[in-house]
Amino acid sequence: MSRIAYVNGRYVPHREAAVHIEDRGYQFADGVYEVIAVQGGRLVDEEAHLRRLERSLGELEIASPMTPAALKSVMREVLRRNRVHHGSIYLQMTRGVAPRDHAFPAASVTALVMTAKRLRVQAPETAEDGVRVLTLPDNRWGRCDIKSISLLPNILAKQRARAAGAYEAWFVDRAGHVTEGSSTNAWIVTRDGKLVTRSASHAILNGVTRQSAIRLAKASGLALEERPFSVPEAKAAREAFITSTTSHVLAVTEIDGTVIGNGKAGTFAGKLRKLYLDYAGGSGARA
Ligand code: PLP
Repeated sequence: MSRIAYVNGRYVPHREAAVHIEDRGYQFADGVYEVIAVQGGRLVDEEAHLRRLERSLGELEIASPMTPAALKSVMREVLRRNRVHHGSIYLQMTRGVAPRDHAFPAASVTALVMTAKRLRVQAPETAEDGVRVLTLPDNRWGRCDIKSISLLPNILAKQRARAAGAYEAWFVDRAGHVTEGSSTNAWIVTRDGKLVTRSASHAILNGVTRQSAIRLAKASGLALEERPFSVPEAKAAREAFITSTTSHVLAVTEIDGTVIGNGKAGTFAGKLRKLYLDYAGGSGARA
């Protein structure tokens, strides 16, 4: 079955989907995006993703291309045409097409692109064995809370990690504290069993999975602190893990070559992963 993309009002074969060379997303990375998981035909945490999208657009003064209701109906049509029941949907909005000039164009029409893909199932051994991370200096701009398509530092960090045989790179700020991963939020579990993740600020993307995990952890009585943690604290932690739309809750079992805990996914990450998967696949995630 051939894939279908949505491009500025049209449903087109994926291989023919294209935008204008003067789209400001292509020229300047002047745009924002969201990735929403689809589980059993439902969009997981759809409202939270759409709220964050609105916020990102607002911070960049990009006009929303359509109402939330219209956006929801296009998302469902993209899922339907691609027969995606389990997978993810990608939405990208840019300031549109205009003659190349750094300043905003006097008038432009927000461009909207959407694609959907079926789930690539995570191997169960990955969940049990966990993944390796590499730490790198955080060389990003001061507004990491905006889900901008400008991702050069993130892709370079991910590539450095992959080249070193690691799954993810954790960015470290000038004070020596972990901010977040290149495409995930970072967590540790202290020796006395408290979950720790950095609080939301301009320094990190406030992950929708992070927010759901915080809610689920609190509701199930797990102790939680939102505060920065250092690389030495992470290396000495009882457990570490990452959260994101596509990684869910995934144990980190090695940081810069230091084995965390006993080198296997720990009980806290395992419990939170189960809580999250039950939530995402169940009634907590209605579209
Ligand atoms: N941090 C960064 C830099 C990201 O790019 C992402 C996801 O792409 C996340 C965190 C996790 O966010 P979410 O849970 O909304 O997928």
